[in-house]
Amino acid sequence: MKNIVLFGPPGAGKGTQAELLKGKYNLVHISTGDVFRFNIKNETELGILAKTFMDKGDLVPDEVTINMLEAEVDKNTNARGFIFDGFPRTQSQAEALDGFLSTKGEKINGMVALEVPEDLLVQRLLERGKTSGRADDTDEVKIRNRFNEYNTKTAVLKDYYAAKGNYFGVNGVGSIQEITERLAKVFDTL
Ligand code: AMP
Repeated sequence: MKNIVLFGPPGAGKGTQAELLKGKYNLVHISTGDVFRFNIKNETELGILAKTFMDKGDLVPDEVTINMLEAEVDKNTNARGFIFDGFPRTQSQAEALDGFLSTKGEKINGMVALEVPEDLLVQRLLERGKTSGRADDTDEVKIRNRFNEYNTKTAVLKDYYAAKGNYFGVNGVGSIQEITERLAKVFDTL
């Protein structure tokens, strides 16, 4: 299997690129943000809980997120591999993911990170907020809090994967197509 963590701060383009790359590599795309939003829309117990965190731009607690992610993976028994988008976002999530995959004889082949400067990210998110219907994209205070969560809890994962020789940074500035091509060059090696 090819299991890839597509990494980067909010607005880096993870969701867009995962949708473009999943077909090329025959991988299942799991976006934890999308799964939470689906649950919010359907007013499930998980959705009601997640909403209280997401509305503020806070991370949903690890245990809830990890259980949900494992259930999503288990729904795809015949997958040739996964693109994880928005997961892991904390060291505990990364450790849980490694443990979970190893029980299946699997591993993360690489973390591929989209690197984009923060001022460009804020512009992209505010632009997306005009059409995405996402409350967390329209309010600059919430956006700033999401970056704060990213910088304090998520960014450390670069070191976690780099220590295993598994971190691959990609320039995330450019046209969608240019960035897909850069990512594909790395995916090909994993
Ligand atoms: P995203 O769609 O990836 O930007 O995620 C939107 C929001 O969903 C985040 O700001 C968090 O509140 C929540 N979320 C998504 N993935 C995770 C995760 N792995 N851990 C905790 N919260 C998450």
